[in-house]
Amino acid sequence: MIGAVGAVSLQGVGIATVVVGATGLFIGLFLGFAAKKFEVEIDEREVKVRELLPGANCGGCGYPGCDGLANAIAEGKAPVNACPVANSDAHKAIAEVMGTVAEETEKTVAYVKCSGTCDKTEVKYEYYGVMDCKKAALVPGKGNKKCSYGCMGFGSCVKVCAFDAIHIVNGIAVVDKEKCSGCSKCTAECPNKLIDMVPVKAKHLVACGSNDKGKDVKAACSAGCIGCKLCVKACEFDAIHVENNLALIDYSKCTNCGKCAAVCPVKVIQVEK
Ligand code: SF4
Ligand code: SF4
Repeated sequence: MIGAVGAVSLQGVGIATVVVGATGLFIGLFLGFAAKKFEVEIDEREVKVRELLPGANCGGCGYPGCDGLANAIAEGKAPVNACPVANSDAHKAIAEVMGTVAEETEKTVAYVKCSGTCDKTEVKYEYYGVMDCKKAALVPGKGNKKCSYGCMGFGSCVKVCAFDAIHIVNGIAVVDKEKCSGCSKCTAECPNKLIDMVPVKAKHLVACGSNDKGKDVKAACSAGCIGCKLCVKACEFDAIHVENNLALIDYSKCTNCGKCAAVCPVKVIQVEK
């Protein structure tokens, strides 16, 4: 009796082993077939380009992160130097992967065109709204400072900077050139269009964005451009002009001689070291 039971269970184990083995074999064959059928071709160049990108995922290139840009470069949809954060060595290496040559690009950094610190301009009312420049710009008068062109200092630009390169100092946004990667994300964020990308080698910068006439500028801020054109007359290189009551520097002509800054009566031309 016991021997019959033992034989039956041995038979059961044998059947179970065959079933499990067959099922495993079937699943293995199916997975192998599926893997072959749905195999995604990996472009080796895309992998190499991705490795050369900085991984900042800042979106400054206009693509959703470094993966997106690597894919676009590999497919020839984006230039090899499209990443504003990568340096020229990285651009050259990416160009090599793509079998081309990278065009030289001039490194630019963000610059906030405003000198309206708390001691230079005053607030015209207390603002109790959301601490965001875009929201504050919707309030009549564009923010609470006397100058409606100037930096409101609520830091919309600060919030989008992935590199901790912009801070609010004494009521206005200030860029740390060392930390700025040149991604330019902050430029789109400022409702007053106060942030320009300027060549990193630019040493003279007009720290004002007001298009008001001189008299109104003076009434709002002691450090605003009054459009007097003394800088224009002092420049021997035709590098500075006044347009819409505001001095603008052409960096392709500027030699950093400093004559404009020396004559500016309101000292609105900042001299970078
Ligand atoms: S620069 Fe523009 S976005 Fe930045 S704090 Fe000033 S107003 Fe706001
Ligand atoms: S000298 Fe100064 S205040 Fe006069 S236009 Fe030039 S930057 Fe503006």
